[in-house]
Amino acid sequence: MIKMKNVAKTYPKGVKALRDVSVTIEDGEFVYVVGASGSGKSTFAKLIIREEKMTRGQMEVCGYNLAKLKSSDVPKLRRQIGVVFQDYKLLNDRTVFENIAYALEVIGTKPEEIRPRVMEALAQVELELKADLKPTELSGGEQQRVGIARAIVNRPQVLIADEPTGNLDPKTALEIMRLFYRINLQGTTIIMVTHNRTIVNKVHNRVLEIKNGEIVGDESKNNGSLQYDYNSGDYVVI
Ligand code: ADP
Ligand code: MG
Repeated sequence: MIKMKNVAKTYPKGVKALRDVSVTIEDGEFVYVVGASGSGKSTFAKLIIREEKMTRGQMEVCGYNLAKLKSSDVPKLRRQIGVVFQDYKLLNDRTVFENIAYALEVIGTKPEEIRPRVMEALAQVELELKADLKPTELSGGEQQRVGIARAIVNRPQVLIADEPTGNLDPKTALEIMRLFYRINLQGTTIIMVTHNRTIVNKVHNRVLEIKNGEIVGDESKNNGSLQYDYNSGDYVVI
């Protein structure tokens, strides 16, 4: 669960990025965060992963009280949360396999567990056959799939993605969205910052709208749900 109560974030030079945010996100939800550029969406995401500290308020993320979280406990919090970036942030001098394995190595996963875990994550994003390629040999959509595999390889409770389809064409964006839906169906909470209203409007989900540092909308839409269609072999909105 993620709970914010009267949370504010003011950056050093006085920019009030978030003003008074109170919201609860339950385990297993799929939440979109929308709003104009500069409204505070990325700050919202950064507070959750403790990339930035809130200035005021209370926050609980995956059982951790962020107001009291010691710096030495930040890695424990981060282990519960996978992060997907708009620009993928892959290491271009390493292979796909090595990029994902690295996420496990830094947290001290036993060497014999690394290969099966990486291959399982690659299977989830349907990239097993590209394990030995370098990111520069992949399309943008494939690079983002590697980014997703890296984010889920540690089996986090929560996956946060800040405009993950921002650099992709609409068709590729939809393929990426299907992966997020599938991961959500397996129980992972998804928080996705996006500009893409067409994607947002397509399926059953919750939409938090941020404007000028405040949540001005919190709608749970139900425009159908996502189901696996055996004929097309894909997820469809019904
Ligand atoms: P969004 O993701 O919705 O575009 P952000 O959360 O990135 O919005 O930014 C919200 C506001 O905070 C903007 O005015 C932005 O310029 C400011 N801001 C973001 N990051 C920083 C920072 N590290 N230092 C100072 N101001 C920042
Ligand atoms: Mg942003």
